[in-house]
Amino acid sequence: MTVHIHPSVDNGVQQGSGSFAGGTLVCECEDNPVKVGVKGDVAHNHACGCTKCWKPEGATFSVVAVVPRDNVTVMENGDKLRVVDPSATIQRHACRACGTHMYGRIENSAHPFYGLDFIHPELFTEGGSAAPQFAAFVSSVIESGVDPSEMPAIRSRLKELGLEPYDCLSPALMDAIATHVAKSTAKAA
Ligand SMILES: [Zn+2]
Ligand SMILES: [Zn+2]
Repeated sequence: MTVHIHPSVDNGVQQGSGSFAGGTLVCECEDNPVKVGVKGDVAHNHACGCTKCWKPEGATFSVVAVVPRDNVTVMENGDKLRVVDPSATIQRHACRACGTHMYGRIENSAHPFYGLDFIHPELFTEGGSAAPQFAAFVSSVIESGVDPSEMPAIRSRLKELGLEPYDCLSPALMDAIATHVAKSTAKAA
């Protein structure tokens, strides 16, 4: 059985150039695609198994990274964007024609990840952005219809690709969230 994770990693994880200066994210529309400019490289790139992240047809995981929100600019056809779920913590701005999520933004300034936008590096027309480093919310793919019996094969494929599987975020990100919470509680006390 072939385990499909995501088209951008199924043939092996392509390492970043280490000097990616930014690029343009383009949606899947053939006519008038939405173009979003990103300055600088991405951080915390990872495969994500949650049900909210956008993934291409046939992919089990999304590939998602963060960039400072000030580095993100809608360049063309921004009128095609809509927020997928205005009540969600992450406001995912998607193309209403092809459904591709162009960027996800957190508007709650108290959120640990406030100031970062979530983007899908596979949409860059340029290569060389930082590679995915781990896999998050792996067990959640079951919620998207993956049979639980496939999980051992999925986890071992992720490990083989060098994408350590976690059922929440990576330890570094979980620590960052907890640190933020600890600081906010200390301020409130
Ligand atoms: Zn589109
Ligand atoms: Zn996700």
